[in-house]
Amino acid sequence: MQFHEVVGQLDTKTKLLTQVAENRISHAQLFLSPHGAGNLALAIAFAQYVLCENKQAHDACGVCAACRKVQKLTHPDLHFSYPFFAKHKEDTSETFISQWRTAVLKNPYLDIDEWRTYFDEDNKQANINIAECHRIIKTWGLKPFEATYKILIMWLPEYLEKEGNTLLKLIEEPPPNTLFILVAHRAEQVLTTILSRTQLIKMPALTQAEISQFLMNRPQVSAEQATQLAYLSEGSLQNALQYLRQEESDYFQLLSEWLRMCFANQGLKITSFVEEMSKMGRENQKNFWRYALKLLREILLVKHHCPQLTHVTEREKNFIANLSKAIHTPQIEALIIEIEKAHYHTERNANPKILFLDVSLQLVKILMFKILPKEVQNIIA
Ligand SMILES: [Zn+2]
Repeated sequence: MQFHEVVGQLDTKTKLLTQVAENRISHAQLFLSPHGAGNLALAIAFAQYVLCENKQAHDACGVCAACRKVQKLTHPDLHFSYPFFAKHKEDTSETFISQWRTAVLKNPYLDIDEWRTYFDEDNKQANINIAECHRIIKTWGLKPFEATYKILIMWLPEYLEKEGNTLLKLIEEPPPNTLFILVAHRAEQVLTTILSRTQLIKMPALTQAEISQFLMNRPQVSAEQATQLAYLSEGSLQNALQYLRQEESDYFQLLSEWLRMCFANQGLKITSFVEEMSKMGRENQKNFWRYALKLLREILLVKHHCPQLTHVTEREKNFIANLSKAIHTPQIEALIIEIEKAHYHTERNANPKILFLDVSLQLVKILMFKILPKEVQNIIA
C-alpha cells in the first residue's frame, strides 16, 4: 500500500512524511480515525514508506524488494496483531495470518464485521488474548531480519483487555529501531495506560468529495451514483464500498415513485412496490430508509430557507423543490418519524412485507389525508 493509494488524509500523510524526513519517528503511535476513514490503510502505507529501500520524497518507490513484500503483507519485519475469534486459548494472530492477508489485501478499509466473515459462525467473541500479548513480547525481543526497522501494527487495540498491560514495558522501553502503531476508532475504549504512552495521530472522516472521487474512478459507477453514495456514506469508505456492493437499485427512483403513489393513494401500485421492496434484502432496505431520511431532512432545510443542497444531484434538487411546495413542515416531520421507526424495525428483523405495507399506509394518511401521528400533533400544539 503506497500513500497515493490511500484516499484523502493529506495532512496526516504530510505529518508522517515529515517524521521520516526529520528522522524523528515516534516509536509508539496511535492512529485514531472514525470508522472507514482509512487509519489501517495509512498505517500500512507508513510502514511501507519506513521499510522502503528507495524512498521518494512523497511516497515509497513501490518496486524495491521491501515494497513488494509489504504489498503482499509478507515482509518479515512487518508484524500484525488484531482481534480474532479464537477457537483455542493458545490461538494467536499468527494462527489467522492467511485470512488476515486475504481480508486486508481485498479491503484495507474493512471493519470488524467484515473481518468476522472470515471465521466460522460459532466463534462470536473477538479479542486480543493473553497468548497474543506473549507472542508479541517474544517476537519483539528479536532483531529485525532484513530492514533497519521492525514494525508492529495493532489493529483495534479496543479489543485488548487488561492483559494488554503486559505490553506496557515494551511500549515504555522499546528496543531500538522499533515502531509500534495502534490503529483505533474509539480512544475511550483503549486501555488508558497504553493511551498515555503513545503519540496521537488523529484523522478526520473523509469528505463527500473524496469518497465521490474514489467511487468515480471505479468502473461502472456513474457520476450521479457516486454523488448519491458518497452522500449516504457519512465519511466512511467502508460504508461506500458496502453500498456499492448492494447497489442495484436506484434509491431516488424508488423513493420518488413511492411518495407519488402514497400521495395519490394508488393501492395497486403500492402493493407491487411492497412486493419489490420486501425482496431486496435487509441491508438494502436499511439503505433505502437512510436515503429517504436524508432526502426528507433536505426538504426541511429548504422549508426553513437554509438550503445547503450542494451535495444533491440535479434531479434530487428538482424533486426537493417541488415536494417542498406541495407539503407542509408537520407532514415532513411526520414522514421522518415513520421512516425512523421503519429503519428501527428493519434492524430488528421485522417482516419486510408487513412493515413496508404498514409504512405505506401511514404515508397515505400523512400525505393524502393529512392525518398526523400523535408525536407531530404534540410538536404543533
Ligand atoms: Zn520501495
